[in-house]
Amino acid sequence: MFEALGNKLQDILDRVGRESKLTEKQVKEAMREIRMALLEADVNFTVAKDFVARVTEKAVGQEVQGSLTGGQTVVKLVHDELIQTLGGETQQPTLKNEGNVWFMVGLQGAGKTTSTGKLAAFYKGKGRRVLLVAADTQRPAARDQLEVLANQVGVPVLKVADGETPQETRRRLDEYLKTDFRDLVIVDTAGRLQIDEALMDQLANLQTELAPTETLLVVDAMTGQEALNVARVFDERVHLSGLIITKMDGDARGGAALSARSVTGRPIYFAGVSEKISGLEPFYPDRVAGRILGMGDVLGLIERAQQADLKAMEVKKPGDFDLEDLLLQLRQIRKMGPLGDLLKLIPGMSRALPEGFNVDEKQIQRIDAMISSMTVKERRNPKIIDGRRRKRIAAGSGSTVQDINRLLKMHEQMKEMMKVLQRMSGPGGMGKGMK
Ligand code: GDP
Repeated sequence: MFEALGNKLQDILDRVGRESKLTEKQVKEAMREIRMALLEADVNFTVAKDFVARVTEKAVGQEVQGSLTGGQTVVKLVHDELIQTLGGETQQPTLKNEGNVWFMVGLQGAGKTTSTGKLAAFYKGKGRRVLLVAADTQRPAARDQLEVLANQVGVPVLKVADGETPQETRRRLDEYLKTDFRDLVIVDTAGRLQIDEALMDQLANLQTELAPTETLLVVDAMTGQEALNVARVFDERVHLSGLIITKMDGDARGGAALSARSVTGRPIYFAGVSEKISGLEPFYPDRVAGRILGMGDVLGLIERAQQADLKAMEVKKPGDFDLEDLLLQLRQIRKMGPLGDLLKLIPGMSRALPEGFNVDEKQIQRIDAMISSMTVKERRNPKIIDGRRRKRIAAGSGSTVQDINRLLKMHEQMKEMMKVLQRMSGPGGMGKGMK
């Protein structure tokens, strides 16, 4: 769903990424573009404005941390702000040991009945004894639809009768629960095509009677900002506790989902991601934010880089890259975890590396041993290592002269590669370590 927005944000942040130190002007320019991208994605005006204001405030004048480029710092700030805007920590409806009554409300077509069935499946899977209540007193078809879903999931359903009063429904529910213990009752209420007073009265009366522990509004991501207007009206009348946003698998621009938390002040509990009964997921702000920025992996890399303090990897010029630097880099990289995983995290790295370039942990250890067997003078200037010294170094590190030759050749190749990378990406483009 967030594809277009994601692509735009990634473009903007890529461009920022070329600068290792950011000026206030650059940050403001990027933020102006981000604001445009958010608005184009149908994000609420105030939400977009506040979003960029907060990122700008944090970014401007911020000392570029450790070895991160300015661009990466901004990516992190934008990512953090996306998570906050989406609600921060994942939140789920309150679930007591028993006596849970959840009220499902929403406009017709939003996916209320489908989501009720999905919730039943989800919580049945967690060992809950679920009862569904089909409470639309005017549309028998709606009740039948829920019954089909209940059968599919394998949970009982209590259907109200045409024109039944809330008091009667309460009594029948109490009767039912006397004979069949259920710890989670999910009530699918009546929906209308549009908000109307009669519907709201009816919902409010049933709510008073059933005293639900959660009131969940189901909104359709495809309806954009209108979904949030709907949410406001429902909240005024039946006080919502949380939201379920459906059709996140569709091609909605995403603004509604992004703005929902800020506009309504209510958490998004779940996202509907398909028509199937299993198509409901708890809403994870961090994962959604990562998906939007297509940056999940890079963020992992940034975090690991922060931990390993890659300052030690700084090299002044590719031409000055000596074996001492190589050794330092290898040791730093080892601190960051398995090398294969790490290389995969770097965008474009698989393309930049020579065919068949592969360094495993054991190889790193062997290289470490070889370089450690050299004198500092040799590490600084490998050209002085002659045949006699190669033999000694091989013996000292438990390797062969061929290994030493290969290492020296690899070092030359890496130097070349760094020059190429530097040319490809412009000053600082691949981060300080590559400058
Ligand atoms: P209600 O009138 O609010 O009860 O809406 P329904 O539950 O009948 O859903 C309306 C339509 O939306 C149905 O065709 C559902 O299959 C579809 N639907 C509901 N949730 C989702 C979802 O998360 N993804 C997709 N793709 N379709 C959904």
